[in-house]
This record gives sequence, C-alpha cells and structure tokens, in this order.
Amino acid sequence: MSNITHVTVLGTGVLGSQIAFQTAFSGFQVTAYDISDDVIAAAEARFDALVTAYKEDGVAGASEGKADEALSRIRFSSDLAEAVADADLVIEAIPEVLSIKQDTYRKLGELAPEKTIFATNSSTLLPSDLKDSTGRPAKFLALHFANRVWKFNTAEVMGTADTDPAVFDEVVAFAGDIGMVPIPVHKEKSGYVLNSLLVPFLNAGFTLAAGGFAEPKDIDNVWRIGTGAPMGPFQITDIIGLTTPYNILAHGGEKDQTLAAWLKSEYIDHGKLGVATGEGFYTY
Ligand code: NAD
Repeated sequence: MSNITHVTVLGTGVLGSQIAFQTAFSGFQVTAYDISDDVIAAAEARFDALVTAYKEDGVAGASEGKADEALSRIRFSSDLAEAVADADLVIEAIPEVLSIKQDTYRKLGELAPEKTIFATNSSTLLPSDLKDSTGRPAKFLALHFANRVWKFNTAEVMGTADTDPAVFDEVVAFAGDIGMVPIPVHKEKSGYVLNSLLVPFLNAGFTLAAGGFAEPKDIDNVWRIGTGAPMGPFQITDIIGLTTPYNILAHGGEKDQTLAAWLKSEYIDHGKLGVATGEGFYTY
C-alpha cells in the first residue's frame, strides 16, 4: 500500500479519463482537471462510456454498483491551482506535445504543494525531457498506462537518474493499489518495455507481408501455432488501429517509410483502419 490518497489527473481525454476512472474505481478520491468547463462537459460521455464498459467487460463489482460509485468519487475542475491544492500525486495525461507538457509542468511546479509527486503518462517522451520544467526532478517520473486500463492493466514506472528511489517505490505501490501490474523500468528507455518489444515485432510482420513473402493471415497463423501466443502481429495491429503504426513508421528512416507507404496504399486509403472501422487486415 502506498501513502497516496488524493490523486489529480490532468487531461480527461482517452487515457486521462480511464486513469481517473480506474483510480476512483479502486476507492481513491480523484480530481479530473481539463482546460475548460466546455471540455469537461464534453468528457462526460467518455466517463459514462467507461461505466458501461466496466459493466459489459465484467470487471468485478462493476455491475453491483461499484462503477456508478466510482463516478461519484471524481470531481472535475478547470482551475489548475484548485485541482492540485491537496494532491499527493498528479498524473499527467495531456497531449503528446513537448511544449504543452513543459508549459504545464512549469505552472504545476509553482502551484502544487511540495509533497506532490508528478507522473507523466507520455508514450514517446522521456521523463528527462520534462524533469527540469517540473522544478522538482526528485519527485517526478513516468507512470505509463496502456489503453483500456481495466483490461490491459500494466503500469510501467520509469524515473530519471534524479528520481528519488522512495518516490519510485511509492508510485510502484500506488500502481498496485489501483489494480495495475506495476512494471518497474530501471533505466530510461524510449518505448518502455512493452513498445520496445511490440514495435519491432509488428514491423517484422509488416516487412514479411509488404515484401510479398507471406500473407498476413498466414504470418499470424505461424506465430500463434509456433509459439502458442493468442494473436499474431496483424490481429494486434487491427486492435491498435493501423494509423498508430503508420504514424510511427512515417517518421522513421527509409525502410520504415516504405512500410508506412504500404500500410497507407493497401489499407488506410481504403478505410481499412482496423477493428474500429470494421475492417483492417481482417473483416469484423
Ligand atoms: P487525448 O487527446 O485523448 O486527451 C488529451 C486531453 O488533454 C484532452 O482532454 C485535452 O483537452 C487535454 N489538454 C489539452 N491541453 C491541456 C493542457 N494544457 N492542460 C491540461 N489538459 C490539456 O490524448 P490521450 O490519447 O489521452 O493521450 C494523453 C497522453 O497519454 C499522451 O501523453 C499520450 O502519449 C499518452 N498515452 C496515450 C495512449 C493512447 O492509447 N491514447 C496510451 C498510453 C499513453
């Protein structure tokens, strides 16, 4: 058990809403902050959808009132000073734009009490990119969730060389308190553990299919049969959505850009974006 009781989540978007909801579902008082009351009002539907998703996915206790109760433990605020005034932990899930995050940490560093730990959910930035803006590098680290936190419940914890080990341990304990499986990452690594494994794996699948070596369904078959894994790279990509790997590859080197062009011309341009659009490498 950690000593953290009051949690503030910055951002009520895709991940922020899930982190806030999961934390409240686990019994914590949560403040969800976003930039305006209009944005917060628009996020209401996202929180309602989470109540439904927890029930439909059979999360223990969700249909017996726990999901509705969780909502009542979240209070919303568009006033940053007020939102963080009593926070033990602030989890930041705002847009993946360096200047926006740095700006926010500068303000946060001035407004939050000295005790407050800051954690970024950034997927692609390293905590080192942000630590100086926080004004409190010893109390800053990354706490990285996966989309659909209630199902894919890993929380990768990764500090910088300046992060106080006691703060690191506290956040690892907190991640466990909210039903995550904490994954301590001992040194800074772009992509943490999961994406360090997943990105090369998916790219290997794309390389085989784009090069005409084998069909996506057969590549998935050999991976499933040969390793016992439940899904192959193309089934996984359909769930993630094709635009995410496309965006990563499009910003890479020449080889990556060839794969991006293949994803675009064969799939994305035909509206085949994955499960969300009813078709990707497979039809749903
Ligand atoms: P999103 O665009 O859905 O949500 C971002 C939210 O931040 C919005 O509600 C927006 O109004 C708010 N916001 C904008 N400017 C702000 C500011 N200055 N201060 C506070 N809030 C502000 O984004 P997302 O997909 O939830 O991603 C948020 C973070 O989580 C990113 O760092 C991303 O890398 C990370 N992440 C995303 C995923 C994913 O699958 N979407 C998975 C893991 C981590």
